[in-house]
Amino acid sequence: MNDEDGQYFYHPLENIEDVEIFYEATERKHLTKAISDERPYTYWTIELYDQENGIRGGGGLGVLAADTRRVAEEMEIPFVLITPFYPSETRQLIKDGKVEDEHKKVDYHDFGFRLIDRVNIKCCGNLCALEVIEKRFKNTRIVAITEPNFGELYSGMSGSDHRLYQEVALGFGGYSALKLLGLKPAIMQLNEVATFFAALARLDELVRNGMDFYEAVVYTRKHTLYTNHTLVQAAEAEFSYEQFERFVFPNLKSLAVKKWLEDKFTNGHIKLSSVTIEIAELRSGVSKLHARVANYKDVAGNKVKFKAITNGIDMRKWVMPEILDFYHREQIIDQYDAPTANFEIKLDLLTANRIRGFKVNGRRVLNEILTNYPDQNGKILEFNDDDFIFDFKRRFVDYKRPDLVFRDPVRLRNILEKRGAYYIIAGRVHAGDETMSKKLYKILEIVEKDDYLREHVHYLPNYDEKLAYGLSCGANAAINVPIVGLEACGTSWMKDVANLSFLISTHDGGVADGSINSYLNVSGANEEEELNMLYQRMEEAILADESNFDLEAIIKQQLTTFLPVVSGARMMKDYLDYLFPK
Ligand SMILES: *Cc1c(COP(=O)(O)O)cnc(C)c1O
Repeated sequence: MNDEDGQYFYHPLENIEDVEIFYEATERKHLTKAISDERPYTYWTIELYDQENGIRGGGGLGVLAADTRRVAEEMEIPFVLITPFYPSETRQLIKDGKVEDEHKKVDYHDFGFRLIDRVNIKCCGNLCALEVIEKRFKNTRIVAITEPNFGELYSGMSGSDHRLYQEVALGFGGYSALKLLGLKPAIMQLNEVATFFAALARLDELVRNGMDFYEAVVYTRKHTLYTNHTLVQAAEAEFSYEQFERFVFPNLKSLAVKKWLEDKFTNGHIKLSSVTIEIAELRSGVSKLHARVANYKDVAGNKVKFKAITNGIDMRKWVMPEILDFYHREQIIDQYDAPTANFEIKLDLLTANRIRGFKVNGRRVLNEILTNYPDQNGKILEFNDDDFIFDFKRRFVDYKRPDLVFRDPVRLRNILEKRGAYYIIAGRVHAGDETMSKKLYKILEIVEKDDYLREHVHYLPNYDEKLAYGLSCGANAAINVPIVGLEACGTSWMKDVANLSFLISTHDGGVADGSINSYLNVSGANEEEELNMLYQRMEEAILADESNFDLEAIIKQQLTTFLPVVSGARMMKDYLDYLFPK
């Protein structure tokens, strides 16, 4: 039973049922440990989007991580978030009509992190020293792994050596860091499969410390939650056995664990999702629709079930203070920002005048923020209180369809011209994404050619949290038109709903948690029909804004349906109920 003598206990697990049978036999049906300061809720993420704390992410995955920690802080849950600190980040600019990434060094000392110590991992025959840094809050902390050559977030191809190095560093380095800090995870939440190695490090340690291999697998599985944000397993990058020989196996102390992992390769390759499913008995998707349609198979070929836990946002971060005060004062949301029992009735106090008043404040917030975000021509925008603004703010990726509204520039122009309205686009193109760069240039060309659109459509290249906040406060109608079935959840629309913007959206991601009648829905049998409906909804939003009755009705309906969805406290309660069933 001892690895060191080569007499390891090993029997291949044919499928997860083997573990279930074993587990039944052990008769341990529940998580063994509740959450405490020494046994915190641990949350693992390769991406954190938390600029206030010096870490700029790429998109929704990172924003969710940051918001989850903030909500845990507000709910006084002992919580540790483990993530890399990337010593360099990019800013996107438009220079001579071309997208350019500007790289900037970031120093963690500037953001209140302190160095705890160093831990080592092995890669390619060398010891790599990683710095463990920490930032403490009241009951939560961010523990980060870093070193001067750690690189940038999502640098290189997925499936590349550098990505694997970053993921192994987070997993093994992060697990050692917890030990260094005297912490044992009550639960390990893996925010996507790039964090698989953290659970692997735990399994390895348990076996190394003498736990029977089966029991260690069961124990790790019972305490690990895999949160999936992706829809199709097939799209996931693979790593090769040879890469694992250089980066992963040297960090395993138990031969049994190594053999277990070796068994998971097919044709010399491995997808991290396949092993993450094996090591995590708890699995969640990020909206009702996503949990239903995510198409994942376990090693036995069975479809994996995901528990639907729709993402939420940290209301204190994303909702304008005046609006948040109103929600609290009128007991629409409670002290943790979860909707109260009869919040729908209380929403009656939200009159058209109030909404307009809040939006005037929001316009000031937006104008202030815009002073730091020049448009594609280097121009600083400033809006009047009575301007009508549509905003489209999200990463520039194909399925979100940033170009949809530009399919018929004449119609777009007519809609905007009738009201003198504006259309603001904010979003970054992923470095090296030629297709989306071209689509962006095409949009800019359409805008440049038309003398009305040139003045009324603006692209803001350096999209980040601040700009997201400003636009959700200060714009009137948010446009969210992903191809139905491709958005896992999306959270930017939640910021818009909470800040009293009209939501014009396809029925996808977390939006589909609600009914089609609860917002300005865009649907159709094909893209042409959807486009037509998008234009109709834009016209409708402009008209509704001119009617007290319609403005009130639409905004209240959106909040009635979506406040419970949007609430980060609701999300956290859902996680806790799932992890610690009564
Ligand atoms: C809220 C937010 C997101 C999330 O965007 P979705 O497209 O809704 O997933 C991404 N990036 C930034 C900067 C955000 O503030």
